[in-house]
Amino acid sequence: MSYVDEVYELVVAKNPAQPEFHQAVKEVLESLRVVIEANEEQYRKDALLERLVTPERQLLFRVPWVDDKGQVQVNNGFRVQFNSAIGPYKGGLRLHPSVNLGIIKFLGFEQIFKNSLTGLPIGGGKGGSDFDPKGKSDREIMAFCQSFMTELYKYIGADTDVPAGDIGTGGREIGFMYGQYKRLTGLYEGVLTGKGLTYGGSLARTEATGYGLLYLTEEMLKCNGKDIAGKTVAVSGSGNVAIYAVQKAQQLGAKVVTVSDSTGWIYDPEGIDVALLKEVKEVKRARLTEYAAARKSAEYHEKKNGEHGVWNVKCDIALPCATQNELDLEDAKALVANGCFAVAEGANMPTTMEATEYLQKNGVLFCPGKAANAGGVATSALEMSQNSERLSWTFEEVDAKLKGIMVNIFHNLDDAAKKYGMAGNYVAGANIAGFLKVAEAMTAQGVV
Ligand code: NDP
Repeated sequence: MSYVDEVYELVVAKNPAQPEFHQAVKEVLESLRVVIEANEEQYRKDALLERLVTPERQLLFRVPWVDDKGQVQVNNGFRVQFNSAIGPYKGGLRLHPSVNLGIIKFLGFEQIFKNSLTGLPIGGGKGGSDFDPKGKSDREIMAFCQSFMTELYKYIGADTDVPAGDIGTGGREIGFMYGQYKRLTGLYEGVLTGKGLTYGGSLARTEATGYGLLYLTEEMLKCNGKDIAGKTVAVSGSGNVAIYAVQKAQQLGAKVVTVSDSTGWIYDPEGIDVALLKEVKEVKRARLTEYAAARKSAEYHEKKNGEHGVWNVKCDIALPCATQNELDLEDAKALVANGCFAVAEGANMPTTMEATEYLQKNGVLFCPGKAANAGGVATSALEMSQNSERLSWTFEEVDAKLKGIMVNIFHNLDDAAKKYGMAGNYVAGANIAGFLKVAEAMTAQGVV
């Protein structure tokens, strides 16, 4: 049996009931096959793949907190410190009822390669909780965040592990967690990113993932003789990534006609009104029905079981920005039938493997999340740099660096795909380019 297949089987056997983690490992290992086979003897001897798929450390802890009725609630807390070969662990904290160890491991594993692709010195990690911030009062959110940090602070630090936001963890949650870290340790250091601007946050961090997605998409189109201006774009999600993806796409001259949340989706043929979307989602924290109520041109569609409406809308470019496995084979078929020619992932692993293969086989330019959404973590690393030098850069400085990083990422994966005979396969290119740097660093550091 090949080394890749052996390691994949080992992952399935040793990590039962973690399908998302298996999926992420399979996708990465499959596209690394050619590189692994060329170095098989050395990698086997060093057990390099076994070490790569095994987190350096997995922290599971209890998070008790008191709700507004005086009732004690208990959630599960997670932090997976996956790989520190090229820098301190870095990756967000997801707060969502679906969170479990397998999901955190899939995200942490992906993060290793994403962080490597940015060209910045950051290792891979991820964390979170099955706590659901929806419908909670600010006091309940604070009680949860303080309890979560009261355990987590023992294992993180500006030079060891630097968490950030993710689904359900925005500026409010990061603020409460940072306050508790400072109170417990007495340290005013860059231990979290995505902080508010008054206490060490970076300008452009809020916009970074969505903007970065568009900078990379623009470069991918340019290198394939296409232009984003004048194109119709379908976006899913209406959170941090989606909102700033919509904004930058429109700044670049495209028309974005959809957004969604977990209960429904909007079709707005006149183009999404970003100011209204921000008001509904960032200020009121309300459902998209409020967007539809305030805008004549918008149609609201309830999400029916298993149906992902936005991908049935005619578009040139699709940007999935909500969550994992939200774009399946049926969706991919609908996109191709409607003439979509590019898909770039704003979310982590939003496209199933079957859908990805279908899109690639049908000539759709496809850029995976670990490259396309790396702008968030890259700007987090820029926030760490600013914290270390006790300085704040201007929005324009950070935005220009972000753009440079995204353009560079695209060329790295494009070059890697070409070098290994898979020109245009950006999934393989991203995995190979991300892997090679980490593998070299792991080899150089010996058996640790
Ligand atoms: P937010 O919490 O701000 O927004 C998430 C959006 O996705 C919301 O519109 C939410 O709808 C929707 N959503 C969440 N879960 C589901 C689900 N199970 N089914 C359908 N819709 C769902 O998160 P972000 O925008 O920060 O993150 C979105 C994706 O981007 C995630 O995959 C995240 O890991 C990834 N990412 C985020 C980065 C960042 O900097 N924020 C960086 C890199 C990747 P609702 O409001 O109804 O829950």
